[in-house]
Amino acid sequence: MLMPDTLGRLLWRLIWIYLPFLVVGWFFDRILLVLLVGCIVHLLYFYYQQRKLLNWLYVDRRLTPPQGWGSWQPVFYGIYQLVKRRLNRERELAHLMKSFRLGAESLPDAIVVFSRSDEITWCNRLASELLGLKWPVDSGQHVSNLIRHPSFVNYLSHRHFQEALEISSPARPDLLLECRVMPYGQQFLMLVRDITQQRKLDKMRKHFISNVSHEFRTPLTVLRGYLEMFDENLPDQKVWARAHTMMSEQTIRMENLVNQLLVLAKIEAAPVVDIHDEIDVPTVLNSLSAETEQLAKDKALTFSFNIDPDLWMHGSSDQMRSAFANLISNAVKYCEQPGHIEVSWQKGPTGNARFSVKDSGPGIRPEHLLRLTERFYRVDKDRSRETGGAGLGLSIVKHALQHHRSELSIESEYGEGSCFSFLIPSDLVYSPNEDDTQDIPELQIFR
Ligand code: ADP
Repeated sequence: MLMPDTLGRLLWRLIWIYLPFLVVGWFFDRILLVLLVGCIVHLLYFYYQQRKLLNWLYVDRRLTPPQGWGSWQPVFYGIYQLVKRRLNRERELAHLMKSFRLGAESLPDAIVVFSRSDEITWCNRLASELLGLKWPVDSGQHVSNLIRHPSFVNYLSHRHFQEALEISSPARPDLLLECRVMPYGQQFLMLVRDITQQRKLDKMRKHFISNVSHEFRTPLTVLRGYLEMFDENLPDQKVWARAHTMMSEQTIRMENLVNQLLVLAKIEAAPVVDIHDEIDVPTVLNSLSAETEQLAKDKALTFSFNIDPDLWMHGSSDQMRSAFANLISNAVKYCEQPGHIEVSWQKGPTGNARFSVKDSGPGIRPEHLLRLTERFYRVDKDRSRETGGAGLGLSIVKHALQHHRSELSIESEYGEGSCFSFLIPSDLVYSPNEDDTQDIPELQIFR
C-alpha cells in the first residue's frame, strides 16, 4: 500500500532532485541561475501533475486514477481509496434502503415517513390506496395538505402521538383507519391500518351479546315471577297448572335458543367441511317429513314431498340436515291455516340439485328479504316470539350452505306465500347407483 512521504524521505527526494542542478551550476559556476532553472522545471512538473489530477476528477471521471510520479503517487492513490470507500458506502446504503422499502411494501399497513416540519419523505404503495398519497409526486408536500381531516390536522399540530387516531379514509370514505405516529431518527413514521372489519366485528359482537341477553331475559323474567309468586306456599291446582305450562314453555324456549346458538357457533367455527361425507338426502328428508307431519298435526296444513330417491350429495350431514330442517320448520311455523307446503329435492338442468320449500303462508315484504339471514333478525318479533323463534334459523342455513358453495334464495309475495330454495353444485351431487369411481371433491376449507 502506498503511504505519504515522511519528512525525511521528502528531504531526500528534494536533495536528489536538486543535486544534479547544483553539480551542473557548480561546474559552470552559475549555481543560483541553474538552481532557479531547476525550481522552474519542478514547478512546471507540479502544475502538470495538478492538471492530471483535475482532469481525472472533473473530466475523465474514471474510477482508476492516472499514473502519478514521486510524491504525487500517494495523492492519487489516497483520493482513489476515498472515492472507492464512498462508493461502497453509497452502494450499501442503497441496498439497505431498497430492502427497507421492500420490507415496508410487504407490510399490511400503509407507511408514511415525514420530516419534523411535516414534509413527506416517503410512503409505500398501500398509503396511496388508503390515504390517496402519490409517490414520488407528493414527496416534500405537507402531510396535512394532503390528509385534511380536521382531527388529523389537530393530532398532527398538537403532536399527541402517544395515542392512536381513528379517521375515515380520505381516498375511500367507507374505510375506517387507525393512524399511529412514532418518532424515527430525525423524522416521523406513520403507520396506518384499515380497522373497518375489526370495528364491524366489535359492533357485531356487542350486538350479539345484547341480543342473546335480551332473548334470555324474557323467559327468565317469567320463571322468576312465578317463583317469587309461589314463595313457600304452593298455589291452588288451577294456578299451578297454568304456571307449569308457562314455565315449561319458557324453559323449552331457552333450551331451543341455546341449541341454536351452539349449532351456529359450531358451523361458523368449522374451518373444514368434510366433503367426503355421503349424505343420503332422500332418507334425511323422509325422516324430516315424518317429524314435520307429527309437528303440524294440530294445524290445518297439507304437505307434498317431491323427492328424487336417487339424488345423494357429498357434504356435512349435520349441517345439511340443519339447513333442510330449519327451512321446513319455518314453513310450518309461519304458514297460516289452512295452508299447503311443498318440499322438493330434484336434479337441476346442469347436473346440480335444487332444494325448495314453498308455502302458502303470509309472505314477506321485499324490504325484509335481504336481512332475513342476519342473526336475530325477525320480521315480526311478536309473532316469532309466539312461535319460539329467535331469528337464528336462517342464519344457520346461510352458513351451512356457504360451506357447500351454495346460497339461499328467497322469493316471496306478501300475502301470497314464500319459496326458500338453494342449488347444490353438480360436483357435490351424485346418484348412489351410478359408478362410484367419480371424482370426490376436495375438502372445503373456510377461514
Ligand atoms: P326464527 O327462529 O325467528 O324463525 P329465522 O331466522 O328462521 O328465525 O327466520 C327469520 C325471520 O324470517 C322469521 O322471524 C320470520 O319473520 C321470517 N320467515 C322465515 N321463514 C318464513 C316463512 N316461511 N314465511 C314467512 N316468514 C318467514
